[in-house]
Amino acid sequence: MSIIASDKELYDIVPKCLNTKQPMFAVTKFGELIPCCWLDTSTNREDPSYKKLLAVSKLSDYESIDELILTEEWLEFNDYIRDGKSPFYGCLRNCKKGVQIKKEIYLASAGSVTAKKEY
Ligand code: SF4
Repeated sequence: MSIIASDKELYDIVPKCLNTKQPMFAVTKFGELIPCCWLDTSTNREDPSYKKLLAVSKLSDYESIDELILTEEWLEFNDYIRDGKSPFYGCLRNCKKGVQIKKEIYLASAGSVTAKKEY
């Protein structure tokens, strides 16, 4: 079953999960594996396409994570983001081209800033 809900558009994105700027995968409080923690919002959970991915993402339904991420729906999502597309508005919000939403500041034990990164 496709994760694209009817009349749903694909958003153009630059996936931060594919360029090490955002860790891949997270687990929701409901025990679902999701592509990244940024998608774990109540608004995103209402997205019809995202609901289709969630429907096949309950960890307790599988013997292994490999089995889960090799489902048709996860493979489809993987294909989309590797093409710079996503059916999820949450991905557009966080990974739209030119959008920086993440700042990291690294401190030494003495409190001085050792590095700053923006993604
Ligand atoms: S919001 Fe979507 S594209 Fe961006 S890092 Fe998370 S899963 Fe990847």
